Amino acid sequence: MSEAPQQQAARDSDNKQAGPRRGRRGGRRRRGGGNRGANDSASVAWSLEQFQVEPQAGKQRFHDLELPDVVMHGIADLGFEYCSPIQAQSLPYTLRGNDVVGKAQTGTGKTAAFLITIIDDLLKHPIDHERYAGEARALIIAPTRELVMQIADDARALNKYTGLNVHTLVGGMDYDKQRRHLDEKLCDILVATPGRLIDFCGSKDVYLDRVEVLVIDEADRMLDMGFIPQVRRIVRQTPRKEERQTLLFSATFTPEVVSLVEQWTQDSTTIEIEPDRIATDSVTQKVYITQTRNKRDLLANILRSEEVESVIVFANRRDQCRHLQEFLGKAGFSVGLLSGEVAQNKRVRTLDDFKSGKIKVLVATDVAGRGIHIDGISHVINFTLPEEPEDYVHRIGRTGRAGKTGTSISFACEDDAFLLEPIGELLGEKVECEQPPEELLVEYRAT
Ligand code: AMP
Repeated sequence: MSEAPQQQAARDSDNKQAGPRRGRRGGRRRRGGGNRGANDSASVAWSLEQFQVEPQAGKQRFHDLELPDVVMHGIADLGFEYCSPIQAQSLPYTLRGNDVVGKAQTGTGKTAAFLITIIDDLLKHPIDHERYAGEARALIIAPTRELVMQIADDARALNKYTGLNVHTLVGGMDYDKQRRHLDEKLCDILVATPGRLIDFCGSKDVYLDRVEVLVIDEADRMLDMGFIPQVRRIVRQTPRKEERQTLLFSATFTPEVVSLVEQWTQDSTTIEIEPDRIATDSVTQKVYITQTRNKRDLLANILRSEEVESVIVFANRRDQCRHLQEFLGKAGFSVGLLSGEVAQNKRVRTLDDFKSGKIKVLVATDVAGRGIHIDGISHVINFTLPEEPEDYVHRIGRTGRAGKTGTSISFACEDDAFLLEPIGELLGEKVECEQPPEELLVEYRAT
């Protein structure tokens, strides 16, 4: 049984303002007192009057959640008007300090749901005694570097007027730079992949024993990637579950995920959001029956067609992606590669070039492609069908975003056509296949 909300709120508020904290902490570098506070010059000039959203039946407005004006200002700048379903369902609990477990995929707005919770909490419970470098107040753990960078971008956008600092720790990027940043600015929100975070804890550059809100994102992916032992070590360094707020998100609820929920959350409320229906509704799905040997010509001919403006090509393995990138480069396309074997700074540059339109084609693996949230991608091509049906929904959800429509084209060949059946089961409808038009099968010649 859950506690009454008021009791819970009181318990939580007690925890979050847990009296004077310990004095000097061994080895930690002292940093100035208290939060820098909201960015007053920017917030003074703005009032909620400037952000009018009409109440609408069946929709939840951010205005009714009693969020600080500086947060509303950030939300207004992002153009969010009404809460997405996961936000509408989770925020009433999380803003009271309750633990929440969300069954939700990317594309549902879960990132803003947990970020708004964290920001509201940190602003409403300011710390007015001395703080120390590297002491995180909120910690978000995510499985991939791309996802961490994406979450941090969203966090910075929502924190535009709050004065809260966002730090990221990811492998493959400059360790010293990340450490210097931690030394220079207090750590309000820390977003990290498990491995690099453990390194920073080990070198005593980060301390997790003051964490007030812990978010574990894509728990199922973390399990698949074998990160759970590391995450367990991290969670052990945070305060006990009774003394922190924990939010856990997972696209699937396997028995292993349920067991983690039991270990890491307390009296949690579970919220389930249907798979990415919105995305699939706005995506025209085509499946071309083809032979393996025709796939490259088919791909290049599709890419050359006029309606293809910006496209992600998915393949299952890193080596397939690398070979495809080489082939498309030679065929004269501006193409970037996003996979685990590409150095992180290169991946960040590639994504920027793709966003700006300098690169038209991005070849990606599922893991690397998960964190891509770019509006305006016209096509997604599945060069190979994914082995997990959920990945199909993820892939095609990279297009048809932000109110636009998109097209997904999947190649089904003798090696993988059998994977269409479980995809159809997940979508709740049979996947229709067709023969590609003759002109797309001719041998491709670069012009
Ligand atoms: P996520 O599921 O967190 O990856 O979010 C998917 C996309 O939805 C992101 O591009 C967000 O900026 C956007 N988004 C999140 N919340 C809202 C909202 N309430 N209204 C409109 N867009 C939103």
